Amino acid sequence: MAVVLLFIDGVGLGEEQDHNPWFACPTPHLEGLLGGRSLVRGATGQHREDVWLVETDARLGVPGLPQSATGQAAIFTGKNAPKLMGEHQSGLPFQRLRRLVRADNLYLQCEARGYRGTFANCYTQDYFDRPSTKRGWVSVSTVAIQSAQEPIRMMPDLLADQAVYHDLTRWTLARKDAAVPEIQPEEAAEHLLSLAATADLVVHEYFLSDLAGHRQDRELIRRVIQDVDRFIGTLAQYKHREDVIVLVSDHGNSEDFRVSTHTSNPVPTLIIGPADVPQSTEGWNLTCITPWLLEQVERDRNRKEKKGGISHG
Ligand SMILES: [Zn+2]
Repeated sequence: MAVVLLFIDGVGLGEEQDHNPWFACPTPHLEGLLGGRSLVRGATGQHREDVWLVETDARLGVPGLPQSATGQAAIFTGKNAPKLMGEHQSGLPFQRLRRLVRADNLYLQCEARGYRGTFANCYTQDYFDRPSTKRGWVSVSTVAIQSAQEPIRMMPDLLADQAVYHDLTRWTLARKDAAVPEIQPEEAAEHLLSLAATADLVVHEYFLSDLAGHRQDRELIRRVIQDVDRFIGTLAQYKHREDVIVLVSDHGNSEDFRVSTHTSNPVPTLIIGPADVPQSTEGWNLTCITPWLLEQVERDRNRKEKKGGISHG
């Protein structure tokens, strides 16, 4: 039983218009969860007993378009990173922002409370051998997991189905290495759920959505949306009854194919499962995610202790 955080880069809540691929492309699983609506701004609210779509502010009171480095830092730390840095910062975090993430983040907060938080993504040795990686140019999610005691997943973990590749189906890996077969998004979801059975919090990061938006690549965004839809559909269907699945993005981009830049649209917090959703979600923004996830982990653990007296330390 766990809280599963699906971080997806560059997906805002857009309009029900043809320029929004998240509306224009078929998303049968998301629509099944959202009462027939697509993942759009108009679908905000509660659907079924255990599905909520919460509009989430990514601008955080700082002028300019929201960007990845500070947006992801806000999600992973619960702090207003763009305000602290004085601007929205794009791409990979600079040293000052890396320090902020390393000092405190959702994995460290899990550890401090005696919970296990883990990152499902798999790294390659190639990545750590790159000169840029050695100089410290890594993503916010990498800085965060490297600051924790939790091990980082590598290729042998992936090939043992104990990790989930960033693209879900391993298709970008298979293109480079014919020895790695592609899998279906449904299988990736099953692998993620098996990790969820052994941890309190599991995080997965997906970023091809942002890339497709910048490139205005219609073929790629169709693939992204289909894979993500099937992945979420399977997670929702086969998750443990008590698991809570949370999908969140750092800024808009791929929901408006008229532009190749980020957008100032709100982003989704899509919650699937028996979570405590605040009565009023007005003012809900990226900094609310980490403290709220920790509350859900705590609540799940308290319930387990009441039921079976499971101890942790
Ligand atoms: Zn971007």
